[in-house]
Amino acid sequence: MTDTPRYEPHDIEQKWQRVWEDERAFSVPNPVEGEPQAENHWYQLEMLPYPSGPSLHMGHVLNYTMGDVQTHVRRRSGWHVVRPMGWDAFGLPAENAAIKEGRHPRVTIEANIETMRAQMKRLGWAIDWEREVAAHQPTFYRWTQWLFQQFVAHDLCYRREGPVNWCPNDQTVIANEYVVDGHCERCGAEVELRNMTQWFMRTTAYADELLEYPGADWPEKTKAIQRNWIGRSEGAEILFRCEETGDDIAVFTTRPDTLFGATFMVVAPEHPFVEAHAGDEAKEYAKRAGARSVEERSAAVEKTGVFTGLHAVNPVNGEKLPIWVADYVLMDYGTGAIMAVPAHDERDAEFAETFGLPVVQVIDEDGKLVNSGRFNGLPADEAKGAIVAEIGATATVNYRLRDWSVSRQRYWGCPIPFIHCETCGVVPVPESDLPVILPDIEDYAPKGMSPLAQNEEYMNVACPQCGSAARRDPDTMDTFVDSSWYFLRYVDPHNHEAPFDRFVVDYWLPVSQYIGGVDHSTGHLLYSRFFVKAMNDWGMVGFREPFERLFHQGWVTLGGTKMSKTKGNVEGPDEVVARYGADATRLYILFMGPADQDMEWTPSGVEGIVRFLRRLWRLVHEVAAAAPAPGERQGLLARKANETIAKVTDDVLRRFQFHTPISAVMELCNEISAAPDAADARFATETAVSLIQPYAPHIAEELWGVLGHERLWEAPWPEADESQLARATFELVVQVNGKVRDRFQADASLSEDELVAIARDSERVAGFLDGAEPRKTIVVPGKLVNFVV
Ligand SMILES: [Zn+2]
Ligand SMILES: [Zn+2]
Repeated sequence: MTDTPRYEPHDIEQKWQRVWEDERAFSVPNPVEGEPQAENHWYQLEMLPYPSGPSLHMGHVLNYTMGDVQTHVRRRSGWHVVRPMGWDAFGLPAENAAIKEGRHPRVTIEANIETMRAQMKRLGWAIDWEREVAAHQPTFYRWTQWLFQQFVAHDLCYRREGPVNWCPNDQTVIANEYVVDGHCERCGAEVELRNMTQWFMRTTAYADELLEYPGADWPEKTKAIQRNWIGRSEGAEILFRCEETGDDIAVFTTRPDTLFGATFMVVAPEHPFVEAHAGDEAKEYAKRAGARSVEERSAAVEKTGVFTGLHAVNPVNGEKLPIWVADYVLMDYGTGAIMAVPAHDERDAEFAETFGLPVVQVIDEDGKLVNSGRFNGLPADEAKGAIVAEIGATATVNYRLRDWSVSRQRYWGCPIPFIHCETCGVVPVPESDLPVILPDIEDYAPKGMSPLAQNEEYMNVACPQCGSAARRDPDTMDTFVDSSWYFLRYVDPHNHEAPFDRFVVDYWLPVSQYIGGVDHSTGHLLYSRFFVKAMNDWGMVGFREPFERLFHQGWVTLGGTKMSKTKGNVEGPDEVVARYGADATRLYILFMGPADQDMEWTPSGVEGIVRFLRRLWRLVHEVAAAAPAPGERQGLLARKANETIAKVTDDVLRRFQFHTPISAVMELCNEISAAPDAADARFATETAVSLIQPYAPHIAEELWGVLGHERLWEAPWPEADESQLARATFELVVQVNGKVRDRFQADASLSEDELVAIARDSERVAGFLDGAEPRKTIVVPGKLVNFVV
């Protein structure tokens, strides 16, 4: 084979990238109302990058290559696929990076975007670049501001004074969702509570609905994280009257059945009752305790507290309970006051033990009430309602979720489009004056208040209502406001009349497949759902969930820790691409292991992939010369080729597995190498090239040409000839409560989870499950699935 040219990845890659760019190969037009539309459409989305660093890291490379494989396979399977990209350009990470470099954030961010875009193009990802958006462009943030005003107009965004999380290092308020164990998620500094007047998004208005995921196929663990964050609990609000002052103190409890066991009451140090009525000692204690961080307070080993000298009357039996102030009760949960039931609550028990307070057991081992007067003997569950009714308390639901604070005292963000007038109050900037442009200022360093506040030219403005001198809102928005709707703008990025056209978003959305980090579960992924539900209520979109399918990739680690800008252990793709080419880099990042598991980046491993590409290169040239075209589609190699088609397709589209298809194509190539002049070698080789195309589109395109074809990126995805698939199957029996409800042939290679999934999909079974989650599922591999409901 002396005439086989050398495999030169850089030449090939640049050649095809130029072709795709010239042809606008991955641009897709939007549907036009009244004209015929492609029915099979797919919105492929990966979380957009922060351009806070001068390079993509290998975690990005993993995500965007996964999205790329999905894009190519779907496109070639006849789907109309949109796959956009953009930049989360505002916000703390970008601003902090700029400050570190001593350059204006805009300069740094735009330079980073240039670099990252070039890296993306160099990797050959099939992105529709005509839809590119960046959050810091006025064409985008004009609509962020417009939406902000809509939220205010619909009473879903409001200003109030209240305790907020202050990061002393970043010198700004941060949202609850980004406080991790009492520390700033960005910089690790311990967060302080401050009382400030801030804008809040009323996420709690949708608390109940956010617990459900109609039509959204999300990982159970993500739903569990969100539900836990929302923290819904059912209970009752019970009023205790203070014997000495006559004040009613409201207590939220999930356990009204234990009311007879209440032996004292505890109020939080911040509770207004303390300031109003408690003695000096209690006030002094409250002042000290309230200044401690929430984390310190919850982690404290020793319980502390002070008796206020006052008593509360238990409404169920008239007993007088001493009222204590103690820092283990938080103002932010429930009502900031609790009835303490030391017999049935661990923290109350510790407190009672420390201060020698009485303990009264009111539930016995059988779960029935004791020491509870006329309720004795009643099961605890029944007693809840009965006691609530008896004392005339209100059954109520409590949530852990708090409204989202969105004001930031930093420069690099979307200006808040409101004006403060002494006469008219808080007035929206008229729509015709949007966007409020973020001015270029010299001194943008954080200073504990918004840097914009000192810019008189920006701040001074006439009130749009009365015309008198007024001031702009000096704060900027949390960058998560930008990312709560960017995926809607992507599908209609050049719209000058509105943030997007409803017809267009209703065509493309919900997003068919979203890929991104599980670390965004209680932030971005929750906020986006809140935004979409609100917009659906206003008639702006025709759906209620933004992301139909969600996949969380594993972390790419370096030296055992997650690669990320904040951790400072970033390794970019440049070196490995320069050395081995984009195709090898793409293949390798997906070959490293299951995409949902963490993987350690070891660049030396690329060598193995490069050897495979060279082998494939030689093999295709050899077969093109030796095996006749079009070639047989029967035989051992053809059978192997068909099995590989079935496996790769199933792995990518259904199982979301990206490493196993690469091994499968490698195996196929090994078998072809053993018989390169077999009558079916050409068919098998063409199949191998076609199947590897989504992973390594450049070499695949080049080799497709060697095989006498062109435009593989548009060629139909291969379909397996079922008659050639030797598949082991067995008869799967599906039971509901032990009764046989269906039986059918199932693939012997399916995992237990997959068996459960196909069993649930059976229509005959679905009727008996009635949409409910089975209490228990029993799987006997190779035999049966039994649902217990
Ligand atoms: Zn911080
Ligand atoms: Zn005014």
